[in-house]
Amino acid sequence: MTKTEIIKRIENAGLAGRGGASFPVSWKWKSVAESLKSEKEGYIILNAAEGEPGVKKDQYILDNYLNEVLNGILLADSYLTSNKIKKIFLYLNKDYLKQFKKRINKELEKKAFKSIKDKIEYFVKPSYPGYISGEESAILNIIEGKKIRPRLKPPYPSCKGLYSKPTLMQNVETFYDISLVSRNEYNGQRFYYINGNVKKPGVYRFFSDLPIEEVLKRSGNYTDESFFVQVGGQASGEVLNSDQLFVPAESTASIMVYNKKRTDEKKLIKFWLRFYQKESCGNCSICREGTYRLYEMIKKDEYDKKLFFEIVSSLKETSFCALGASLPVPIYSYFKNVLKEKIVE
Ligand code: SF4
Repeated sequence: MTKTEIIKRIENAGLAGRGGASFPVSWKWKSVAESLKSEKEGYIILNAAEGEPGVKKDQYILDNYLNEVLNGILLADSYLTSNKIKKIFLYLNKDYLKQFKKRINKELEKKAFKSIKDKIEYFVKPSYPGYISGEESAILNIIEGKKIRPRLKPPYPSCKGLYSKPTLMQNVETFYDISLVSRNEYNGQRFYYINGNVKKPGVYRFFSDLPIEEVLKRSGNYTDESFFVQVGGQASGEVLNSDQLFVPAESTASIMVYNKKRTDEKKLIKFWLRFYQKESCGNCSICREGTYRLYEMIKKDEYDKKLFFEIVSSLKETSFCALGASLPVPIYSYFKNVLKEKIVE
């Protein structure tokens, strides 16, 4: 397949990255290709870090569609001009490396992957801090052996990524989708990970514009009991009440279902705040101190709600990266949508 053919197919499919930001794949590819025109070399990174609690799609895809994922990487390598791509990093969390390394190596022995086999290098995601170690710009620092910190953007990795060279980074599901697009088999579906108080937890594939309620019904996971959901990860995902599920699941499309009666409000908020406090890399004081203060407050029987939300709001406004800035998402949405409290953001 020529470069023009593959990029046209990706464009026509309207393919968006599945890592959370939903950035159009064709724009990213074209941007890296453009930057490579004035550079001798560049890199490709497969991001299989998957560190957010309640999200397990990468594991399922690697387990069931390894050939397609590698084929997506092969297509990217070819589109970006293979001899300009110096290395292809497979950035996996520790468990996935253990589970899949042998199978990946075996798959790479196939003739089809001859052109990329020798460029592949594994990189294990540090287990702490786990969340930020999956963030695009932090991954660049980690592979370069620098401190685990997100980078200021711009410049974006597509122009100045690994070792300041153009870098294409995509997650597992995106490379899988690219493979389907190349075979004209992509039909607008995506993977959903459904978890929590449901009868049939697991990974499902439905159209990406299907309302959440319909996803739950078709997967046999809709319940008559009073419930709410968290969409996009059990830590940073938005919380929606059961009467708000007429929208599609955005971001990573993971859906965590909570039974209202069996969910302890305080315990849930404590879980979120503990996660953020533990995962803060400590770079900025608002995130480092703010998450600590919030967690300490919620542990008490009574707390100053006004002050609590002032800190939450400051995190949204002044955090350096998506970790601190996303803390208000579950907190605000839970108070507003489920507890029905009036919150001024
Ligand atoms: S917001 Fe938090 S995780 Fe992000 S850079 Fe600042 S301290 Fe680190």
